[in-house]
Amino acid sequence: MTTKSSNSKDDRIKRAVEMAKKAHEGQLRKTGEPYIVHPLAVKKILEEWGMDEDTIIAGILHDTIEDTDLTLDDIKQEFGESVAFLVDGVTKLSTARNGMRDIDTYLPATRDNFLRLMIALGDDIRVLIIKLADRLHNLRTLSALPPDKQKKIAKETLEVFAPLADRLNMGLLRVEMADLAFKYVDPKRFDELEQLIKKYNKSAEKSLAKTEEEIRRALRKEKIKYKLSGRVKSVYSLHKKLAKHHQNMGEIYDLMALRIIVEDVTTCYLVLGIIHSLYTPMDGRIKDYIAMPKQNGYQSLHTTVITKDKHIVEFQIRTNEMHEYAERGLAASFYYNEQKLTESYKKGKIEHLPTNLLWITELQMTAAKLREGKKVDLKKLKLNLFADKIFVYTPKGDIIDLPKGALPLDFAYKLHSEIGDHVVGVKINGKMSNLGKKLEHGDVVEILTSKNQTPKQTWFNKIITPHARQKLRHALRPAPNQTTSRKKH
Ligand code: MN
Repeated sequence: MTTKSSNSKDDRIKRAVEMAKKAHEGQLRKTGEPYIVHPLAVKKILEEWGMDEDTIIAGILHDTIEDTDLTLDDIKQEFGESVAFLVDGVTKLSTARNGMRDIDTYLPATRDNFLRLMIALGDDIRVLIIKLADRLHNLRTLSALPPDKQKKIAKETLEVFAPLADRLNMGLLRVEMADLAFKYVDPKRFDELEQLIKKYNKSAEKSLAKTEEEIRRALRKEKIKYKLSGRVKSVYSLHKKLAKHHQNMGEIYDLMALRIIVEDVTTCYLVLGIIHSLYTPMDGRIKDYIAMPKQNGYQSLHTTVITKDKHIVEFQIRTNEMHEYAERGLAASFYYNEQKLTESYKKGKIEHLPTNLLWITELQMTAAKLREGKKVDLKKLKLNLFADKIFVYTPKGDIIDLPKGALPLDFAYKLHSEIGDHVVGVKINGKMSNLGKKLEHGDVVEILTSKNQTPKQTWFNKIITPHARQKLRHALRPAPNQTTSRKKH
């Protein structure tokens, strides 16, 4: 028997599906399917992540404000403040994004966009989780879009969304997103590396099976309860590692990895000892992320060893809880704390976030200040969402993103090649500095130029970005009527 105004979880979700179906009626996706397929897929992803009811409902309705006649008030009336709030956040997030046409200047090229984005995100981290689910489904169906759009979305995923997933320690999501996207950004390289991994796995198969058996025997002997599995390296992470190690496969030590999951922390260390008594550990490759978790809260023991038949294998040892958290990250803490967490969100407070995700609290406090119209010192905000990027500021307050280690000339050429070509000096945070000085996250950088200055060959030593290098090469190119002989060296 059902009552007319039933408010059970299933009933609310059913009503949301009906509402979305009606609202998107007649709309089609680029794939040719009815539009509703997309919100339903987002719903399913959020359910798989174990998200709370309001987030699932907001996920079902996430595209209605932007694309249909439904209003925020309609949603508020039917599903309450919290759902309306989440849908509003997702809508704001995509509007902030639409304002930015060029992916190279996206997020956060201008102070305005950055602030808008922060306000949208800072309100409630669940907004971001819905956005990630939305992006995941769009990536899974990316083949339906024209090639230029595919590249744009894929690139944005690698630069923004996958790092965000990583910051939230959502490991499974990060890997799926990055590999899906990388396939579109550089299909040739993707195939190459995928083949390479396959070939490597094949050649190592026997040795790995032998090692596995040795480990199983040793763990059984000690009466340790465990789960053991192999883990295949993702294509994108191999690509990034190879780039870091000058394409030298010999320096990639985690191509073969075994994961051991045990019941408690003490057993983790015990297992580490057992492994080291069987095999020789490699120098400097033992990492205790249990005692010292990574910034995103990731915990595990890692060690790389040389097996009896001279193969290199990485072991990852962790508890069940750590494993859940490594794969599902922030979403996992929602799962375990659903009731408490939803309650705390209603009060506008986050008390149940793992301490290692306190940057979210920082983000929220900043967003609150911005909403109240208070001045915010962005420099003090250690918003390190993008691990290998830094954000610096022009004296006017525009935000420029650069890779870590970038130098003033990289910054100058990013602004404009006219500026880059005529650099005579640089002020960092108001003080005269030099062109060899590495820029730090949050620096205010002022480039001094002179019309009489010309680009110098020696500047190549003071540049790390391919963009600046290309601009400088262009500026140094001899005029077309001069002929130069090429020297061999
Ligand atoms: Mn969508």
